[in-house]
Amino acid sequence: MKILVLNCGSSSVKYQLIETETQMALAKGMVSRIGMSGSLLAHKPFDRPETKVSAEILDHIVAVEYVIAYLTSANHGVIKDKSEIDAVGHRVVHGGEEFKESIEITPELMSTLRSMIELAPLHNPHNIRGITACQKTLPNIPQVAVFDTAFHHEMPPCAYIYGIPYVFYKHNSIRRYGFHGTSHQYVSNRAAEMLGRPMTDINTVTCHLGNGASVAAVKGGISIDTSMGFTPLEGLLMGTRCGDMDPAIILHIMAREELSLHESNTLLNKHSGLIGISGVSSDMREIIAAAQKNHHLARLALEVYCYRLKKYIGAYAAAMGRIDTLVFTAGVGENSPDVRALTCTNLEFMGVEIDEKKNKAAVGKELDISTDDATVRTLVIPTNEELVIAKDTERIVKDHTRRNK
Ligand code: ADP
Repeated sequence: MKILVLNCGSSSVKYQLIETETQMALAKGMVSRIGMSGSLLAHKPFDRPETKVSAEILDHIVAVEYVIAYLTSANHGVIKDKSEIDAVGHRVVHGGEEFKESIEITPELMSTLRSMIELAPLHNPHNIRGITACQKTLPNIPQVAVFDTAFHHEMPPCAYIYGIPYVFYKHNSIRRYGFHGTSHQYVSNRAAEMLGRPMTDINTVTCHLGNGASVAAVKGGISIDTSMGFTPLEGLLMGTRCGDMDPAIILHIMAREELSLHESNTLLNKHSGLIGISGVSSDMREIIAAAQKNHHLARLALEVYCYRLKKYIGAYAAAMGRIDTLVFTAGVGENSPDVRALTCTNLEFMGVEIDEKKNKAAVGKELDISTDDATVRTLVIPTNEELVIAKDTERIVKDHTRRNK
């Protein structure tokens, strides 16, 4: 099947057209600056160079129209007609407690998704906009929602209940949900394949370190805990997000600085993390470069980042009672030997020991970077969230067709 995978943000649409038989991306690209001046489409067919075009792209509907036009164009296309697209798989950030797995999009589902916007006001409205755009541009083509939260739905209550009055869970759905589920799922599966062991036999700590970052404890294939919480703000230090902190701090700052709710939200989500501590950048490459030039606050930001990650790895090994493999993935995890080395320092006591040469060699590719004697296998695995979305979409569409026969 040919599945169009879409990941819609507030001003962007990332896409891949995936051939599920070969698991190959026929084309991938991104529309950015939607609704702003200087909108841009970057499109890369698998067998030709990337093209970039500036255009006036006012909304997600126009963005999806551009994507379809490039996928089917004579010069840049990989299909002749949009009818060759068998289905669309959408990344939807928040599935709440309702959605424990991927699901075909129906009018009822859309109204449930709309009713859940309160849970993820920063993400779900854009996902919904992308779905609506596809319904207009690709009518009659099945669409599937794949949730970032779904992989974590089997977490036990002791991992997802917060220490506030229980009534907030019952009435307001306030609990840990966790995010990056498709990535944690993909890399934990690949880890089992790389070790040649059944998924059900191994305990994995997966570290997804992108602009947003989270860790998960995957016990026998099931996520039993994860560092992001009710929102993606909790847990690790991230590019621009603060991660864990004493919740009283924000109350204190709001009172002292007379910050509004909106300003406080921006402070924690956009001006904290690596950029907040260092004042240099939210990009780990620039943090490392500045730290190497002895920029004191960049070094401090790097140390806080790795120290917090190390603590989570230890905590999740304890939560699972044993760890067989530690996985690094996403932009920082796949590409930064420095972050991996600093994080794994002094974890020998629990069997994590990485080989300096292998660690340096593992940039953007799958590799076991452990020393030969290490009892925990430390793996670098490039994530492939789009493939998980495409495969789930295919499974659901095929199930649906079978049921309707
Ligand atoms: P997103 O969360 O947006 O999907 P990615 O997974 O692509 O992000 O990760 C982006 C981040 O990866 C960048 O902010 C950058 O800090 C980091 N990154 C990419 N390459 C490197 C590298 N060679 N060394 C360190 N960090 C890197």
